[in-house]
Amino acid sequence: MTVPTLTLNDGKTIPQLGFGVFKVDPEETERIVTDALEVGYRHIDTAAVYGNEEGVGKAIAKSGIARDELFVTTKLWNDRHGAEESKRALGESLEKLGLDHVDLYLIHWPTPANDNSVETWEAFPGYRDQGLTTSIGVSNFDHRFLPEILDTGIIPAVDQIECHPQFQQVDTRPLLAENDIRIEAWGPLGQGNVDYASTVIGEIAAAHEKSWAQAIIRWHLQKGHILFPKSNNRDRMEQNFDVFDFELSDSEMASIDALENGGRVSADPAEVN
Ligand code: NAD
Repeated sequence: MTVPTLTLNDGKTIPQLGFGVFKVDPEETERIVTDALEVGYRHIDTAAVYGNEEGVGKAIAKSGIARDELFVTTKLWNDRHGAEESKRALGESLEKLGLDHVDLYLIHWPTPANDNSVETWEAFPGYRDQGLTTSIGVSNFDHRFLPEILDTGIIPAVDQIECHPQFQQVDTRPLLAENDIRIEAWGPLGQGNVDYASTVIGEIAAAHEKSWAQAIIRWHLQKGHILFPKSNNRDRMEQNFDVFDFELSDSEMASIDALENGGRVSADPAEVN
């Protein structure tokens, strides 16, 4: 099973399917990420606020997998915005991860009340130039917050944003496409809180002898999204990785597209500070 690699707008490459560790207990992270690496995942998505960068780092160190075969993302938390503060925060993340660089560093949320995401973003190319991160991007910057980032002339490689069949970021997609910014779909399975099995996705999955989760993952892959579904359970990790032996037809893709209803399952970026 080979995970496709996508090329970002900065010329760097990223494994399209990875493993996310939101809400993975720091005490259990080393074991869970070790499982994920054994299953075959080579792209790990963490964040300073998850409190589990150390566990991710330990699993990586123990795995013996060459650093250049891994893709590691972490994110700047909301209370560390600003040019100087973000540099300190990145240093702390690298220390916890036990790495000299990450592959992707993201501003986690726009935090409109702080009004300093532009200053923060303008510091990010410096981290790339210093080799502390290979690529830079943003997270949760929808059509309301992306324009001020684009006005800097520094174009993010990705925007990591809530995206699943009932909430596809319809307002933000055109802006991302125009600027060749890849969507990283967080909550790709609706965080397990949407009954997707009872929708057309259940029928499509059955037709391919796959689970509803595998059908959604396949939909994301064929849409060109990068994603890293999360599971603490090794069977599900394997299931979520076993998605390269079937393909959805155009009409199956269209019927999943039609599930869009504006139904977020998590926070509105305008309200996170
Ligand atoms: P997700 O959509 O990946 O859902 C995870 C949940 O779905 C699991 O806890 C489990 O309950 C269920 N699940 C997983 N595999 C399943 C399967 N095969 N069958 C049935 N149920 C299954 O949600 P997520 O973890 O929030 O998102 C994925 C990753 O995205 C995170 O781990 C994190 O890395 C990232 N993320 C980023 C942000 C951000 O603000 N940038 C926010 C949330 C998540």
